[in-house]
Amino acid sequence: MNARDSKTHVVIVGGGFAGLACARELAKSNDVRVTLIDKNNYHQFQPLLYQLATAHLGTDDIATSIRQVFCGRPNVEVNMVEVIAANPKTRTVTTREGKSYQGDFLVLAAGSQANFFGTAGAETNAFPLYSLGEAQRLRSRILTAFEDADRNPKLVEQGALNFVVIGGGPTGTELAGALADMIRFTMTREYPDLAVKHAQVYLVDHGHALLGAFPAEAHDYAARALQKKGVQLRLGIGVKEVASDHVLLSDGTSIQTRAAIWAGGLMAAPLAGNAGLPRGHGGRIDVRPDLTIDGFPGVYALGDFANIPSPAGEGLPQLGSVAQQCGKWTAKNILAEIAGQTRTPFHYHDKGIMAMIGRDSAVAAIGKNRHELDGPIAFAAWIGVHALLMSGVRERIEAFINWAWSYFGRSLPIQVLDRSDQARIDWGEGTQSEDFRASAATQSGR
Ligand SMILES: Cc1cc2nc3c(=O)[nH]c(=O)nc-3n(C[C@H](O)[C@H](O)[C@H](O)COP(=O)(O)OP(=O)(O)OC[C@H]3O[C@@H](n4cnc5c(N)ncnc54)[C@H](O)[C@@H]3O)c2cc1C
Repeated sequence: MNARDSKTHVVIVGGGFAGLACARELAKSNDVRVTLIDKNNYHQFQPLLYQLATAHLGTDDIATSIRQVFCGRPNVEVNMVEVIAANPKTRTVTTREGKSYQGDFLVLAAGSQANFFGTAGAETNAFPLYSLGEAQRLRSRILTAFEDADRNPKLVEQGALNFVVIGGGPTGTELAGALADMIRFTMTREYPDLAVKHAQVYLVDHGHALLGAFPAEAHDYAARALQKKGVQLRLGIGVKEVASDHVLLSDGTSIQTRAAIWAGGLMAAPLAGNAGLPRGHGGRIDVRPDLTIDGFPGVYALGDFANIPSPAGEGLPQLGSVAQQCGKWTAKNILAEIAGQTRTPFHYHDKGIMAMIGRDSAVAAIGKNRHELDGPIAFAAWIGVHALLMSGVRERIEAFINWAWSYFGRSLPIQVLDRSDQARIDWGEGTQSEDFRASAATQSGR
């Protein structure tokens, strides 16, 4: 038996906040070897996806190579493959190519995906914002809408410059604010011949307040901040249908748009349905307080992939800080099990929740008691907490803080339309105007 085989083998699926934190902690132990599997070769920093979607940041700014994180860590093997099934009895996972990985311990941390709650047309026509690829696709769609409208201003009447954000939680609120800023500070300068003043951002939520998980003062602050930026709030109204050219609301009205953005909720990643494990709310794996799964020794589920019980009973929220902390905790429990000690229940250190509402507004609810802050102090808290989340992923906190302050100032964003084929808008032969066809023909040299 060689030294490698004598080590306890931990297989981790998912290089997000949870999986990465678990692997980093385990990497410090000489008793363990880790196989870290992710379908991508990068770790994505989800809290800043909306910045990528609104062209304020580039892809490299919010993604880090997973292999680079573990350079110089010989006991961590990184594999870029997609896991399609898990067998929790044997602690084995199977990849799309048919390869299997078996561990003494199996850690499932595959994260989440958009939950459209059966809304008609949403899965086909809406733009979700839960992964790097989705943020890139949305950015390209926004830029395409402006380019098309610039070539044919009549498309503005068909909703070319209407953007409908569905969901008034942190993701939707942050995105609506950033989009309004992008229109106001950048598009007005870059499209001088286009009536950018007709561009409109709508935010729709069936609830009556924005940022539901925050204290009441934050709801009002967020609503005021967005309205000041010109965002049209449609609160207390549901979305009945997302079509390719409009969004139909529950009050019978509809908004013409070619960019309906889904920030309406999430559920566990598809692997959860193929893991042979008990699933609860949001299709997530139900775990015990120590993050193991009843009846399956050596199997853990973490982060957004799991329903993690909380002392108050309602379960911990899907947050990067929860995922990161439970990744570390799991590593400690695994090392305890190897040492013949008992596992301990996960204790979440709640630093609070926060949201940035465009360049000049932020809200934070600090600590377990949700002490409310807004304005520049909340903005500073936002930077501090997100720098902590980023630390350990890469040594670029300084760059991050520099970005944050320049964003707070008025620096020019990155307007690269790099996925034009995927973002193409079919304006429909019947509805295309003569001007548009003539302009398209000129552009293509016909
Ligand atoms: C737009 C947005 C903004 C957010 N803002 C904040 C914020 O401000 N603060 C905060 O604390 N939290 C925020 N969150 C929540 C936070 O990002 C998540 O809670 C956190 O990313 C969850 O971490 P995770 O490791 O469980 O999953 P993820 O980070 O989603 O990682 C899952 C990993 O699993 C991989 N994977 C999935 N399926 C497979 C498979 N079948 N095979 C192989 N690999 C697979 C994925 O590629 C991914 O790398 C935000 C989330 C979003 C979407």
